[in-house]
Amino acid sequence: MVSKIDRQAFLQSLIVPPGKEISLHKDYDPGFKPDYITKEDATLLLQQGIEKMAEFQDKLYAQDTYALLINLQAMDAAGKDGTIRHVMSGLNPQGCQVFSFKVPSAEELDHDYLWRYYKALPERGRIGIFNRSYYEELLVVRVHQNLLERQKLPPEDRTKKVWQRRFEEINNFEKYLVNNGVIVLKFFLNVSKGEQKKRFLERIDRPEKNWKFSENDVKERAFWGDYMKAYEEVFNHTSTEWAPWYIIPADRKWFTRLAVGAVIYHTLESLGLKYPTVTEEHHQALLKAKEILENEPD
Ligand code: ATP
Ligand code: MG
Repeated sequence: MVSKIDRQAFLQSLIVPPGKEISLHKDYDPGFKPDYITKEDATLLLQQGIEKMAEFQDKLYAQDTYALLINLQAMDAAGKDGTIRHVMSGLNPQGCQVFSFKVPSAEELDHDYLWRYYKALPERGRIGIFNRSYYEELLVVRVHQNLLERQKLPPEDRTKKVWQRRFEEINNFEKYLVNNGVIVLKFFLNVSKGEQKKRFLERIDRPEKNWKFSENDVKERAFWGDYMKAYEEVFNHTSTEWAPWYIIPADRKWFTRLAVGAVIYHTLESLGLKYPTVTEEHHQALLKAKEILENEPD
């Protein structure tokens, strides 16, 4: 159905090449899907991928060496929640965690901007999802400058230079994480403005979807152009060899899920995860325990 060559080329087409300047608008089509994949194929492939991912996750947990951090960024209604639900559906909940980051609290604003994200990082052996992430500090906070003022920064940090500084700080932060066994994946679910409108209207028209709609979503939509500029800057400054960005076409939900699943699958596979080998001492202890159990009176 999908050859290994196709898979490599497919993954490469999603990545933002580190050091290369991209144009979000020109280089990444929200409606893209390769000709050779149909919706039916995608559902089947994702299902198979999820079963294999469950095996990887079991080894990740047992090995207790690496953690996987998945940053999910998107405009509203791009499908973050559905992607998390589908891609993570077959995994062991004990080894997974999801944190959703909203407007920071008073306590959070009293700390440096990375504090709340740092506290939520997955421990070794686990997969942690950030539903919105520290990248909001370069997105919503950049689009709405009053949010930066609320961060109580020293006066010299309240200038335009702050963004350049944050790019560097975040690149260094991610480098530190990767050096210490936390693999960092970053996804942008790239939905078009037209598709967002369609999904908002559906949320308004269908009573069971009304709860998902907030009037604020339409207000934020008015800043679409500013968000796209801020996102583009983020991709051009923070797609690195150690933590590249993946831009996922998001106008078709089934394709979004398959693409995100494929990147996670490929990342876990490339770690070469193995169950820990048993030491001779442990092996002897196992044999002894077996003997005790087998000799137990009924
Ligand atoms: P959904 O709408 O799918 O439920 P969501 O992630 O949009 O999910 P909301 O509760 O609607 O969740 O919105 C969270 C809000 O918090 C967003 O508008 C986002 O921009 C804002 N936010 C996130 N991080 C920050 C931050 N660091 N500073 C200010 N606002 C932030
Ligand atoms: Mg929202």
